[in-house]
Amino acid sequence: MLQALYDGKIEAFRKQFLKLHPYDRAKFYVEQSPEVRKRMYEYLSPAEMAEIFDHLDIEEDEYKIYLSEMDPLFVAQMLAHMYADNAADVLNELDKKEVANYLTIMDDEAAKDIQGLLHYKEYTAGSIMTTEYIAIHANQTVRSAMQILKREAANAETIYYLYVVNEQRQLVGVLSLRELLTSDDDAMICDVMNDRVVSVFVDEDQEEVARKMQNYDFLALPVVDMNNHLLGIITVDDIVDVISEEATDDYSKLAGVPDVDIQRNP
Ligand code: ATP
Ligand code: MG
Repeated sequence: MLQALYDGKIEAFRKQFLKLHPYDRAKFYVEQSPEVRKRMYEYLSPAEMAEIFDHLDIEEDEYKIYLSEMDPLFVAQMLAHMYADNAADVLNELDKKEVANYLTIMDDEAAKDIQGLLHYKEYTAGSIMTTEYIAIHANQTVRSAMQILKREAANAETIYYLYVVNEQRQLVGVLSLRELLTSDDDAMICDVMNDRVVSVFVDEDQEEVARKMQNYDFLALPVVDMNNHLLGIITVDDIVDVISEEATDDYSKLAGVPDVDIQRNP
């Protein structure tokens, strides 16, 4: 499989490789030697590498190794193409100087999105949210909301819910994709949206977010600040990771598995 990569056949490799699910592409990538990985950076675009990095689950020192193999501009472009929450996770593993470096050479808009996510404390809603959501206004028609959806769909982490905000970007409503599609084109969003929106606060614990997601059965939850300004969304796939982390944690405690850090000589 993917012999074309080792043989240096770019087009054949790209054709086979890009057909794989991003998770399988990521798995393949981490199994390669540094030399082969370097070849992959030549054969793939920053956007294509971004898809791989969006699906990597590796240790912090591994991020450092991989990024150091790439050209800094390539790294910056790749980070800009990643979902902002994942890019922030990667940058959180690097030292401040490197982070500043990448953010400077990145395009401004992406840098701003990512920067906004770097400050949130670990294990809070803010640390796992992403800023790529679809926002619409209450006083527009379903037809024009549909146009926004079409325009933004490629970049949004989920298109399953559209969040309705006012001029101050406060969260005032929510609409599912199914509800949008089944509404009359001329209807106003304020007449078809749900205005009792369940949301989480940005500094709320991620376990609480997981609980709400499970209880309400939503595929995503909006994240707001104390003044109800919409800051981001958390999708169910990010919550699956939280739940499995917590389960491992709780299981270790239950089984009495000692934490190596606090082990003492008898
Ligand atoms: P499907 O058939 O795919 O389930 P749906 O429209 O029922 O389509 P759901 O995900 O089941 O979509 O959402 C159920 C309802 O909850 C929808 O009316 C949706 O607008 C609403 N909803 C989604 N997110 C929120 C939220 N954060 N707070 C309140 N209501 C929400
Ligand atoms: Mg439903």
